Amino acid sequence: MRIGNLSGRAHLLRGTTAIDIAKASGGAFGPEPGDLFARWPELLEWSATVRTDFAEPYRHEDLRAPVPRPRQVFAVGLNYAEHVAETGLRADGALSVFTKFADSLTGPYGRIALSGPSVDWEVELVVVIAREARNVPSADALACLAGVTVGQDFSDRDVQLSGTPPQFSLGKSFPGFGPTGPALVTLDEVDLTVPLRLRCWVNDELVQDGHTGQMILPVGALIERISAVCTLHPGDLIFTGTPAGVGMGRTPRRYLAAGDVVRTSIDGIGEMRHVFGPRRS
Ligand code: ZN
Repeated sequence: MRIGNLSGRAHLLRGTTAIDIAKASGGAFGPEPGDLFARWPELLEWSATVRTDFAEPYRHEDLRAPVPRPRQVFAVGLNYAEHVAETGLRADGALSVFTKFADSLTGPYGRIALSGPSVDWEVELVVVIAREARNVPSADALACLAGVTVGQDFSDRDVQLSGTPPQFSLGKSFPGFGPTGPALVTLDEVDLTVPLRLRCWVNDELVQDGHTGQMILPVGALIERISAVCTLHPGDLIFTGTPAGVGMGRTPRRYLAAGDVVRTSIDGIGEMRHVFGPRRS
C-alpha cells in the first residue's frame, strides 16, 4: 500500500490514480493522514478489498508530506561509516540523535529557501511508527512500523556545527529542511531486510549513492535504542542517517546555491524533487 497526502487528505495511490481513503471507506478511516494510525491494522485489511470506483487521476506535484504533523521527529547522525569518515567527526558507537523541529517538514516537491551559504544535502530512509512503543527489542521493531518514506535531512552546516555543544537540531530545522515523501509505503511493498539503494542528485549530478545495508545501526537497533528512552507514538518519524557524498565531505566543500535542483530517491519507495531559492529576507 502507498499512501499519499493530497490536499491534506489521505489517499491510496494506485499507479496514476488516487483513492480518497475517507470517501472510499465511508468515513471509517481518515480523512487526515495522521488519523489513519488509530486503526492501522484494520486499514491494512480494508486496503486489500477497496474498490476502485473512487480512483481519480492526480498530479505528483500536488503530493504533500505523507505524515505532515508527527508528534515526534527523531534523526540519527553518523550512521554510515563512510559518511562518518568524510565528516571528520568521531563516532564511538554511541547513538547520535537530534530532532528536526516540526516546522521544518515539507512535501516531496517544491521550493525551499536557502538559509545561508552552507546548505547541504542528506538522502535518508525515514521510518514511520504505527503504534505506541516503548522498550522494543530490535527483533520486534519492524512490527511497530507503519512503513517507510524517502527523506532529506537538509542541513545548514554553519549553524549545525557552531557552538559547544554543536546545534544539530537547529541547523537542520530551517523551513522546508525536512522533506518527506512521495508516499508512505507499507512493508508488504518494500522489504527492509534487503538493502535499499539511496541516491541524491544535484542538478542531475549523482552526489550520493549508497544503500541501507551500510547502516552502522540498522532500523531495528535504532528503534530499540530510542524506545529505551522515549515512548514512540503513532506517526512519529525516524530519519535513519545518510550515506557518504554530502557537500561538507568534498574538497573543496560544495554547498547548495539558488537555482539548484535536488532529487532524492530510494529504490522501491520513490523520488522527491526540490528547487532552492534565494535566502529568505
Ligand atoms: Zn542526517
